[in-house]
Amino acid sequence: MHTYIHTLHYIHTLHYIRTYTQEIRKSILNLERTNRTIEFSWVKAHVGIHGNELADRLAKEAACSTEIQVVFDRMPKSSLYSELEEEATQKWQEEWEQCKKAAVTKQFFPTLRDSINLSLNVTPNFMAVATGRGKTRAYLHRFKITDSATCPCNKEDKTLDHILCKCTLHKTQRDLFKEKVPGF
Ligand SMILES: [Zn+2]
Repeated sequence: MHTYIHTLHYIHTLHYIRTYTQEIRKSILNLERTNRTIEFSWVKAHVGIHGNELADRLAKEAACSTEIQVVFDRMPKSSLYSELEEEATQKWQEEWEQCKKAAVTKQFFPTLRDSINLSLNVTPNFMAVATGRGKTRAYLHRFKITDSATCPCNKEDKTLDHILCKCTLHKTQRDLFKEKVPGF
C-alpha cells in the first residue's frame, strides 16, 4: 500500500519530476488525448490479476536484465539544484557544529536549515544579542571599560543570559514576551 501511495505521489507531484515520472505522465496524457480515462487504484498483489501480474513480471525481468542499461545521468535541473542545495546545507551544518567559535550564536541558531527559512529583521541590536557582543556590563567589564560587571539588580553579573532569562528588573518585559510567544 505504501509503495502505491509513494508511486502516485511522484506521478502527481509537479515539483519533483524525475525522468521516468515524466515518461509515465506523458504516456498518461497521450492516452487521455485518445479519449481514454486513466484511473489509479490499489490492487492486491499476487492474486492472479492479469495486468498486475504482467507488470510485476516485466519489472522483475527489467531489474534482472543485463541488457538494459541503467541510466543515472538523466536528471532535471531542478532536482539537481535541490540535491546540491541539500548537500551544501548538510556540509555547512557539519562545519557549523565543528567550529569552536560563535558559541552564543549557535544557541540561537542550532540548526541552519531552520535558520535559512526564518524571516528575520536583522537590526544592530538583534546582531548584538545573537552574537553575544551586546554592550552589557559583563561585556564592557571584560574589556575594562566599566568598573563592575554586576547588574543593578545585584544578583549576578549583567550578562546576556542574565538579562534575557533571570534579571528581576526585566521580569515584566519577559512575561509580556512569553505571553506573545506561546511555547517559549
Ligand atoms: Zn539583573
